[in-house]
Amino acid sequence: MASFLMVGAGLSGAVIGRHLAEAGHDIAVVDARTHIGGNCHTERDPETGVLVHVYGPHIFHTDDAEVWDYVNAHATFLPYKNRVKTTSRDPEGALGVFSLPVNLHTINQFFRRTLRPEEAHAFITTEQADTSIADPQTFEEQALRFVGRDLYEAFFKGYTMKQWGCHPSELPASILKRLPVRFNYDDNYFFHRFQGMPEQGYTAMIESILDHPRISVTLETVFDRSQAGDYDHVFYSGPLDGWFDYELGRLGYRTLDFERFTYQGDYQGCAVMNYGEVDVPYTRITEHKHFAPWESHEGSVCYREFSRAAEPGDIPYYPIRQVKEKALLSDYVARAETTPGVTFVGRLGTYRYLDMDVSIREALDTARAFAADLGAARTP
Ligand code: FAD
Repeated sequence: MASFLMVGAGLSGAVIGRHLAEAGHDIAVVDARTHIGGNCHTERDPETGVLVHVYGPHIFHTDDAEVWDYVNAHATFLPYKNRVKTTSRDPEGALGVFSLPVNLHTINQFFRRTLRPEEAHAFITTEQADTSIADPQTFEEQALRFVGRDLYEAFFKGYTMKQWGCHPSELPASILKRLPVRFNYDDNYFFHRFQGMPEQGYTAMIESILDHPRISVTLETVFDRSQAGDYDHVFYSGPLDGWFDYELGRLGYRTLDFERFTYQGDYQGCAVMNYGEVDVPYTRITEHKHFAPWESHEGSVCYREFSRAAEPGDIPYYPIRQVKEKALLSDYVARAETTPGVTFVGRLGTYRYLDMDVSIREALDTARAFAADLGAARTP
């Protein structure tokens, strides 16, 4: 049997490692951090006892029944719907709290109307949308074309500028693909069939995935490429450009800073409150105890979230994937494809934003294809 190294104890490394361990191989997992779980890591806040999503809020949602069964085999999932609120100013300049994604409630509250679905659709598409924009090229043009200036400025512009650090006129129209508005009162952020939250958090779930006699986990260990030769193959879920020592340049990321504060009682009444105003420096506040409404905590812990361009040494969160980065990415991908003995996996290894269910799906597919190739190579 072979021995494999997983660089990274996040979902990608854990799921691939587990599959290959079950096929009888020895798996060493290393992670630079003090904990497993990657960016899905959850831990108890020592002061309040609240389960905290350390690297930002994570809600599990999928249409993939096999992935849903997989996570349910490793954790008890409780029903959870993501219902996001946002502060913003209405057309008269009054500050209010509105429902996201923009839905019939948001529209009626914002414009002080009592429109029914078809009336709201007609109002937005004929009275608000800027139909003079025939072929939108930028995010801003696309938003103006779809929803008009009032909704764009209140709900899209400020948040986008803070999140991406640039004006929406510098972002491609493709970011807003469809009419980003619902003409009913559905405020469930995701459309997926299966949604929930692991009762004991994601780290407990990933601990269960890694709990196999053939898997060993070593934390606080930065992978060194000279170790690769000790294994039959490496699965690398670290940054793609990092593997190549950033020789061609750095792939751009946005990073996040979290400013923690505590509160006695209920600070904001929901898990996630966005701040649409451009003059508020943070994008949102997460109040973690609302992710586990089945728990009871007097104290509360909240994170104010700030977004900025990642510098070397920062945690890479969101790949920027603009024209410049895509060109550099294709150069690194060309190198990766001709590098033997390693498979680049996960959100950092492939430089893509991947939801958890997609990370698991891709990890299962990668592990299966690899195991099949291994079997074929052994068949005389
Ligand atoms: P990671 O979780 O990043 O794990 C990679 C691991 O590799 C890390 O632990 C890192 O320390 C380690 N590593 C890297 N380089 C090295 C090295 N050289 N040596 C040793 N160790 C190394 N998905 C959802 O489905 N729902 C959500 O609500 C959601 N919210 C999100 C919010 C934010 C802010 C972000 C950024 C992502 C969110 N996601 C969400 C996506 C989710 O975080 C990813 O799908 C998941 O983390 C991918 O797992 P991974 O194993 O590929 O990567």
